[in-house]
Amino acid sequence: MEYILETHNLEKRYKHFKAISNLNMHIPKGSIYGLIGKNGAGKTTLIRVICGLQKPTSGTYSIYGISNENRKITEARKRIGAIIESPSICLDMTAEDNLKEQYKVIGLPSFDNLQEILRFVGLEETGKKTAKNFSLGMKQRLGLAIALVGNPDFLILDEPINGLDPEGIIEIRELILKLNKEKGITFLISSHYLDELSKIATCYGFIDKCRIVKEIRSDELEQKFKKRTQIHVNNIKECVKYLEEIKIPYKVISENIVDIYEKINVSDIVIALSKRNCIVNEFHEKGESLENYYLNLIGGADNV
Ligand code: ADP
Repeated sequence: MEYILETHNLEKRYKHFKAISNLNMHIPKGSIYGLIGKNGAGKTTLIRVICGLQKPTSGTYSIYGISNENRKITEARKRIGAIIESPSICLDMTAEDNLKEQYKVIGLPSFDNLQEILRFVGLEETGKKTAKNFSLGMKQRLGLAIALVGNPDFLILDEPINGLDPEGIIEIRELILKLNKEKGITFLISSHYLDELSKIATCYGFIDKCRIVKEIRSDELEQKFKKRTQIHVNNIKECVKYLEEIKIPYKVISENIVDIYEKINVSDIVIALSKRNCIVNEFHEKGESLENYYLNLIGGADNV
């Protein structure tokens, strides 16, 4: 597995307070990595360290395989674009001028690809409109456009949907997916909105009390949440016979309860079983929710 970013026992202390400690994370190339943790868990600190805005107190990290202790790390960092806390937008400037500023800040000699970036984020027709007149979603897309200057292949977004309205959330989500699919950009996205990240993340790192408590791929996670339908019947023998006949995976839980592991039409099953003198008394959709999984990892709802 090729990793864009790896950390090894990374630690950042503020005097005696450890904001991150013993932190090990692995971001696969081409992934959308959701960094999930409650407020104060250490997400922004970790991002600031990776971006070189703060030095780790101990431990190391590598970007594209280059260690932070290697002088070439500065070159590697040039391949990263980031929005930390809020995008650095000048509200009195147009989208184009904001982008031009960024070209100058990172020392690029010409405005190559500027129009392409504007088109990509859907801001090519904003003309003379200044950023202060943009919607929240447009401002966030402009932030992403600024982060795209210099053609990075790794984008770090700290809480990108914080404060956005539902429309803005959809815009940003679609843009992230497009950048990932069409440009192959790897993403690290921090959030405490678990459900929102679950729509786009291909893997997750759960951060709690300054360390990563679990890394998991989204397909592994989905397996855990695989829905099941639990039915309560008065004639388990007939019920099992029927499920065998129609070749549906199931598990007998007790003398009158069966779990069915496939999407089923409950009314069809109820009718079919009633013809066999088996009455369905109750049925329930079961399956662990992402929210519960997260709460279990970080030690219960009281911790959120
Ligand atoms: P998150 O982004 O997950 O909300 P942060 O990384 O911002 O978490 O903060 C992690 C912990 O480090 C918090 O307890 C926060 O108060 C503390 N912290 C962050 N920055 C500083 C700082 N400059 N000085 C002291 N403590 C800090």
